[in-house]
Amino acid sequence: MAAHLRHLVQLLRSPTSKSPSSEAVAHIGALHDRTVPKQTEKMLACRKGCSHCCSQMVVVTAPEAFYVAAQLRKRPETAGAVAAIARETGRLTLEERLGRNIFCPLLSDAICSIYAARPLGCRGFVSTNLEACIAAFTRGETPNIPMPNDSISVLYACRMLLLAALRLAGLKDGVYEMNSAVAAALSAPDAEAQWLAGKDLFSGLQETPPPPPQFEASIRQMMAYVAPTI
Ligand code: SF4
Repeated sequence: MAAHLRHLVQLLRSPTSKSPSSEAVAHIGALHDRTVPKQTEKMLACRKGCSHCCSQMVVVTAPEAFYVAAQLRKRPETAGAVAAIARETGRLTLEERLGRNIFCPLLSDAICSIYAARPLGCRGFVSTNLEACIAAFTRGETPNIPMPNDSISVLYACRMLLLAALRLAGLKDGVYEMNSAVAAALSAPDAEAQWLAGKDLFSGLQETPPPPPQFEASIRQMMAYVAPTI
């Protein structure tokens, strides 16, 4: 964990990278995917072309938004669809979004069109029961999605690493609704450079509540361990 945290901070602070965000998020995404045990993956009901969960709210950090935005620079129609839908989804809470059947504008024929660059929340949201997903996301019943403990642990660990890295790099660690954050990230060609230089491009967006105390304590512990060595 410490080695990955140090590496993430270096990536985020890189003076030579064209997109420090993309490199950091690609690193944490790959780490996530190779850390989930193969045995756990075999338990999942998730399959290519199954997109029931892509109607719920996805939340992202700024680097994740920049990484998604980078995939859309040459896809103006999709970028426009994200900006249009953001006007609605950016105002909804997690609970309000459930059952509205507002599908992610990045879906194409029920497949994620930015699959390799999808945010951590999408990577880590898995289910062992398709019927539970249909009940929650299609019929609007109270969500009760069974997720393997290993999947939850890996997602939480990666999320904590990314938040800790952002703080150690001196960057804002806000978490925002994906469509509105990606629309903000697409608002200028040099949006990422502006954000890295300290401009808060996401200031008008609704932020999710801060991490729960136990999560926050782990982030601080990681930061305290690594800070003297970076
Ligand atoms: S980014 Fe991809 S995986 Fe995530 S909600 Fe959108 S289509 Fe689904």
